[in-house]
Amino acid sequence: MLELRNITKTFGDVLANDRVSFKVEPGTIHAIVGENGAGKSTAMRIAYGFYTADSGEILIDGQVREIRTPHDAIALGIGMVHQHFMLVEPMTVAENIVLGAEPGSATSLDLRKAADEIRKVSDEFKLSVDPNATIETLSVGQQQRVELLKALYRRAQLLILDEPTAVLTPQEVEEFFAILRGMRDQGKTIVIITHKLSEVLAISDNVTVMRDGRVVGNVKTSETSAAELARMMVGREVLLRVEKPDAKPGAALISLRDVSIVGRDGTKRVDKVSFEVRAGEIVGIAGVEGNGQTELMEALAGLIPGAYVSGSINFEGRDITRLDARARKELGIAHVPEDRHRRGLLLDFSLAENTILGVHYRKPAVMGPGGILLDQKGIQRRTEQVLRDFDVRPPSPDLPARALSGGNQQKLIIGREFELPPKFLLVSQPTRGVDIGAIEFIHQKIVAMRDAGCAVLLVSAELEEVTALSDRLLVIHNGKIAGEVDPKVTTNEEIGLMMTGGRRS
Ligand code: ADP
Ligand code: MG
Repeated sequence: MLELRNITKTFGDVLANDRVSFKVEPGTIHAIVGENGAGKSTAMRIAYGFYTADSGEILIDGQVREIRTPHDAIALGIGMVHQHFMLVEPMTVAENIVLGAEPGSATSLDLRKAADEIRKVSDEFKLSVDPNATIETLSVGQQQRVELLKALYRRAQLLILDEPTAVLTPQEVEEFFAILRGMRDQGKTIVIITHKLSEVLAISDNVTVMRDGRVVGNVKTSETSAAELARMMVGREVLLRVEKPDAKPGAALISLRDVSIVGRDGTKRVDKVSFEVRAGEIVGIAGVEGNGQTELMEALAGLIPGAYVSGSINFEGRDITRLDARARKELGIAHVPEDRHRRGLLLDFSLAENTILGVHYRKPAVMGPGGILLDQKGIQRRTEQVLRDFDVRPPSPDLPARALSGGNQQKLIIGREFELPPKFLLVSQPTRGVDIGAIEFIHQKIVAMRDAGCAVLLVSAELEEVTALSDRLLVIHNGKIAGEVDPKVTTNEEIGLMMTGGRRS
């Protein structure tokens, strides 16, 4: 269906693709895996005519084809769904699909006809998209299906999906994979770019592994394993499990008593939660997203106005319930937020500026009497230290945060917070959208903080992650702690039951 032969592409002095060759068989789901920056997106954007290769050939159905623009690709039956959707929010699904295909030429009659056709395609592939819905009213998962529909409407036979699950919840991923299998069963060919090994194993027939711009392996999914793929991706053995010595917890550092949180709409999000975290231990919170864990972490970080929080929060014996975020940071409470774009980073600001975000008013960011002058050298030293210790790539302090991959953005935030250094660390979804080499790295850093005596409270939607990292595990359901389990002996079934409100016998 598709073949890349010796595709080479440079951006300035970056060799993004180095003689990349592989074949995608018709009627299969073909995964391309590799760490961030391995060259996956570049290779597929070349196949889609988004970039032009410096050299090499693209074959469609065994014939060499010139694909200079996405228009050429679409004419050859290739569709691509990008990592960032390209939909116009105030317009309807039908308008987005038709206007993209025939810019400026659609009349309301065309739109009505198109809506019928779109509904047909949507039904055929079980996408359940309403052509008349406005984009901004759709969930992220639904918007992604609109992008699929757009490609299918233009009669794509080959669909290229770039990191499609990065934005989806676990349930949405399941539904999405069912749709992809259905598409394959109807004869479509799918190329899926991902860096999640569990997804590769779950969905693909064949896998191409890329590293540093090169193809390092082509394997059948049924003949490989997560460990082998990880080794190929990273170029060394990777610990897929967290190895940590037993915790040596000290005194309780933070304790919550009957903490309740209401949302702005007046509904109860967290309901009389009490627990403590001791110095030198990692307490995990497992739960289906939306059961209060976000609010709980934000309340502990001081990000929720006091009017919405009741009960008491004690830190080192002192009541901090009414302290704001800055005052808590001053006491040694750091926070790695779950949404790094909304809460963690200023994307258009430099890495250096992001490194001092939240501590811009104190050393090493300021100097002089009263700390009124920016200390450029101090900022630079701190930035270089964070970039180096947390392996942020590329380590260029002046680059805007937007230019970094998700994994590197996350390492920057983690580095900034870990090097404060804190006594109590709130960590939410630390490895969401992060690739395996970096996941291993982040896990090791979290354990290192614990072993240095820090109290860690960890929230993760990845059950495996929270079970592997935690010394004690609390399960949250409907704003209440449904129970505590020992991560060493618990099972997914036990936790799963508590997560859905079932009782332990
Ligand atoms: P992946 O999709 O595997 O994460 P990419 O194909 O996006 O990797 O990137 C491969 C390399 O090419 C990276 O070093 C990246 O920074 C660089 N690169 C990708 N696109 C561009 C671009 N438009 N301009 C400059 N460099 C780019
Ligand atoms: Mg990419």
